[in-house]
Amino acid sequence: MTAQETAPVSAGRGEPLVVLSGVQKHFGQLHALKDIELTVKRGEVVVVIGPSGSGKSTLCRTINRLETIDEGSITLDGQPLPQEGKALAALRAEVGMVFQSFNLFAHKTILENVTLGPIKVRGVGKAEAEKKARELLDRVGVGHQAEKYPAQLSGGQQQRVAIARALAMEPKVMLFDEPTSALDPEMIKEVLDVMVDLAEQGMTMVVVTHEMGFARTAAHRVVFMADGAIVEENTPEEFFTHPSSDRAKDFLGKIL
Ligand code: ADP
Ligand code: MG
Repeated sequence: MTAQETAPVSAGRGEPLVVLSGVQKHFGQLHALKDIELTVKRGEVVVVIGPSGSGKSTLCRTINRLETIDEGSITLDGQPLPQEGKALAALRAEVGMVFQSFNLFAHKTILENVTLGPIKVRGVGKAEAEKKARELLDRVGVGHQAEKYPAQLSGGQQQRVAIARALAMEPKVMLFDEPTSALDPEMIKEVLDVMVDLAEQGMTMVVVTHEMGFARTAAHRVVFMADGAIVEENTPEEFFTHPSSDRAKDFLGKIL
């Protein structure tokens, strides 16, 4: 990937892009998100780590409104998240999401998987959408697989297609929820390499991952969650060498 192939992202760099303020979320009796304060700046890469069940996925899902919140506010580029209808569909296009399970449409080709959103949601013409999709598939290293179906690709290739599919919508921010957790070890690096490239090009990213190599290489900030709360946040260097909370020390002791 080269810098020229991406849209200019330098404009407004460093300004708040995603702002969560006083966010509370319950699932029945369970307090899943506790008074979350988090600002992600344009061009920033935030890695979210924490034990299973600490609310990392829920946090991601609130940002593209797959989950509603009970209290507080979330803004994207200064605008409150829309609640429904076309505005909500537009929001989902602006917030790209990549999950642990790749969620590609099994009965559509790789190319169709990537063009579907731009054509249906963005109203892009078929030829233009296909041109852009082929560029993106080349960028993530699966350009030669465009006519195949998802099941014919490896997990790592499918996950790279999922990234290309999200990028095709020209999102303002990309959310990654444990994107390599379901992959065989030899495929993890090929996905992380694509993510590091994206980060280097200035994409704003929120990444839930336990890949500490990625966090050290690409993250500007590590946010550590436990029991639905942000317990501490710091640069990767500081967080990994001098975690301040007992929860973080305990967690790092288990995974490092
Ligand atoms: P993480 O991604 O850090 O493992 P999650 O955000 O998935 O954590 O979950 C946080 C807590 O919320 C967990 O206790 C989980 O069981 C609960 N939870 C998540 N989604 C739902 C849901 N849709 N309904 C009920 N409980 C949920
Ligand atoms: Mg999760």
